[in-house]
Amino acid sequence: MKITFLGTGVSVNVANKAQQSILIEDDKLVLVDCGYGAMLRLHQAGYDVKDLDAILLTHFHLDHCGEIMGILKARWLSDADEIAIYTPKGGEKGFEAFLQAFSYLSGKLRYRIYELKDGTSFSIGSMRFSARKTVHSVESLAYFINGLLISGDTCAFPELYHDVDVAVHEMSLDFGGNADFHTSPENFAKNAGSISKAYLIHLYPPAYLNRKKIAGFLEEKGIKTYFPDDLERIEL
Ligand SMILES: [Zn+2]
Ligand SMILES: [Zn+2]
Repeated sequence: MKITFLGTGVSVNVANKAQQSILIEDDKLVLVDCGYGAMLRLHQAGYDVKDLDAILLTHFHLDHCGEIMGILKARWLSDADEIAIYTPKGGEKGFEAFLQAFSYLSGKLRYRIYELKDGTSFSIGSMRFSARKTVHSVESLAYFINGLLISGDTCAFPELYHDVDVAVHEMSLDFGGNADFHTSPENFAKNAGSISKAYLIHLYPPAYLNRKKIAGFLEEKGIKTYFPDDLERIEL
């Protein structure tokens, strides 16, 4: 399984990163989130929107789904097949609202929404995913596949990491941050459980500037810590 970090940024500019977007490639090509900048990064990584087999959205915040309509429009103009889009509860309504806002696209875009609940499993080709509800300010999911968790936005809590070895995880907050709906280093260290490797993304400026200290702190707790940049690729 190959993971390409398309966008590792947040809602404000940090080091010219695109907003959150991660590509998982096995026998199918799956995009997890598509914040602004995702489509350009997808092309820079050597793929086309037509190549995507499914899109998984963690939640309806712009830094995670801002480019979804642009991607669907580009697929329509490229004559692509219908695509499956997996979302938390509220996905159908969310897309209806998008189409009301951009009514010129009504009836043109080809997609099917699958709203997921906590614990729902689903397959895309040979890839077996399950959705895990996270703690965020809106309905929100993390996605789990073969020991890997992609967190979306959440605070860290133990149940989220059942059977997780590797996490692609948000680290919005710096030390001392209020981990109600996002993760801070202390909050992550306390709850990380079985996680041995963390690829931390989605850092707001204070956390980004302090990332060496965050890595040192987590490594002391036995978590190998990386801060991938856009377009970095790992093999799991
Ligand atoms: Zn969010
Ligand atoms: Zn976010």
